[in-house]
Amino acid sequence: MPPLLSKSYSSLKTLISTYPYLKFSTMSITLKSPVFAGNPIRSITPKPSDPCSPTSAFQTLKLLLSGQTHVQEPSWPRFKVLPFVKGRPLAGSSGDVVKKWCLGWLSFGEFKDVLEGSEVKLREDLLVYLGCKDDEESVVYWGVDVSEGVGLVERLRRKEFCFVELRTLMVATDWADDDAMGQLAIAGHARALLEWHNTSRFCGSCGEMLVPAEAGRRKQCIKDSCKKRVYPRVDPVVIMLVIDKENDRALLGKQSRFVPRMWSCLAGFLEPGESLEEAVKRETWEEAGIEVGEVVYHSSQPWPVGPSSMPCQLMIGFFAYATSLDINVDKSELEDAKWHSREDVKNALTFAEYEKAQKTSAYKVDQMCKGVEKGQNVASDFNVESGELAPMFVPGPFAIAHHLISSWVHQVSSNGIQTQNKGVHSRL
Ligand SMILES: [Zn+2]
Repeated sequence: MPPLLSKSYSSLKTLISTYPYLKFSTMSITLKSPVFAGNPIRSITPKPSDPCSPTSAFQTLKLLLSGQTHVQEPSWPRFKVLPFVKGRPLAGSSGDVVKKWCLGWLSFGEFKDVLEGSEVKLREDLLVYLGCKDDEESVVYWGVDVSEGVGLVERLRRKEFCFVELRTLMVATDWADDDAMGQLAIAGHARALLEWHNTSRFCGSCGEMLVPAEAGRRKQCIKDSCKKRVYPRVDPVVIMLVIDKENDRALLGKQSRFVPRMWSCLAGFLEPGESLEEAVKRETWEEAGIEVGEVVYHSSQPWPVGPSSMPCQLMIGFFAYATSLDINVDKSELEDAKWHSREDVKNALTFAEYEKAQKTSAYKVDQMCKGVEKGQNVASDFNVESGELAPMFVPGPFAIAHHLISSWVHQVSSNGIQTQNKGVHSRL
């Protein structure tokens, strides 16, 4: 159901510049695809005969590294490499007034130059195939983990690049910038794949080594009698906005790790042998003591910024309609959970705060790449000083929770009339 008040972020910017006196703090922000989805180089995998396919590109890579050719760099398709250190992609910054981050893609030749004399010896099994852009200038993209090369950080810093937490890049991304959103999705996929390689070193069946196969898209046990194939791990998580239809309220929870004033949807991992609907009901009951009846699917989002033991979670979002209203919070899971009116939740969609956090983070990335700011603290991204702080806010547009909440706040009925005050009227 299309949200009545939704504006694309770019048209929102136009509106703000045209009518600066209007309050846009409660507008919803609609994205073309969830953050970390919509990866522009993850199209259908080319057939093995295509030079851009994982198989063919990997053959070219092996030839380049074998020393059997004097070619330093393939001319077609070209190769681009994105280095990572401990899950952090190489990034740079541009823009004089409005800072904008970019990924630190290196040509294959540049990458080899940077590695020369470093602790990292370039081997074919270090590079993982990320995808290709098969337009007029075909490019194959690779990710590489160079965490062992301590000296590399300094070499790359000379190019005004630095390794930045993906979460910081996520907050620093301008949602109106399709190119930046695409780059973020590529970095998310690459991080997920490389972290999975890092944490899947041995065979779960026989304990022997696992080695990369299919250009790093899976792994395989080296023991002849085993040869077990292992595929990248995805951890499904249900995330739900629990709704009290009768009183027009939504249940939001607060975790101790959240930044102050932030409330969000309840969420939890799917257990083996459980349906998504069952997981929604079980988690809501366990965390808040609320019973759920109808469960309606909303959307999903890849989430590659969780702990490295879970290289990529898949957030699966639902509306969950409550059949009981008394809250009983499990303090080991949640700090607090409360019913909030639609109006309060609407006010918590504080656009001004998301925009400020985005600009603060983009500036932070710029300063880090110039070597000014060494540390980074994602939690501080939202601790912006302002005289107009909302009493509560919900996660920014980079999180599926934002879109679940925003969809409910701006929900329209089938006849197109906003149902905003329906519950209030029914009580009068
Ligand atoms: Zn094995």
